[in-house]
Amino acid sequence: MKETSITFIQTGGTIDKDYPRQTKGWAFEIGDPAFNRILKKIEPSFHYEVIELFKKDSLEITLQDRNLLVESLKKIENKYIIITHGTDTMIETAIMLNKYIQDKIIIITGAMRPERFTNSDAEFNLGCAVGAVFTLNVGIYIAMHGIVKNFRDTKRNLDTGKYY
Ligand code: GLU
Repeated sequence: MKETSITFIQTGGTIDKDYPRQTKGWAFEIGDPAFNRILKKIEPSFHYEVIELFKKDSLEITLQDRNLLVESLKKIENKYIIITHGTDTMIETAIMLNKYIQDKIIIITGAMRPERFTNSDAEFNLGCAVGAVFTLNVGIYIAMHGIVKNFRDTKRNLDTGKYY
């Protein structure tokens, strides 16, 4: 794995919501990871690999899922990790990762509106995470709404849903 390489991990969330069914669909489902489409568009100067770990609304992520994430991260040699995740339980996942992973720069990001929407914040949030990842020290961070902070310093306004 090259020094300037990012491992992107999909866990689900609104960022990846879509109407993937051609027939008999009636609700959002979590589709292919948005980072695949965004990265393809921008042809980045860094190397990357992608892992589609699971596709869940973050309210449905279980302890078992978070254990799977931890175990997967332990197997990854790369230091630079960006996880896309539903916005409702980013902090819960960060707390868990912080307990078990001490040698990586991990940024959790996502979006309030699906990347498929023209008013989505997905590209901006992912871009903020990418821009920050090579500049940070080892730790667990959240990148949302133009702010990238260690999860311990991250707060959420529960009326607006905004992280700050
Ligand atoms: N319940 C959703 C979740 O956290 C909220 C919006 C989102 O997906 O980001 O997964």
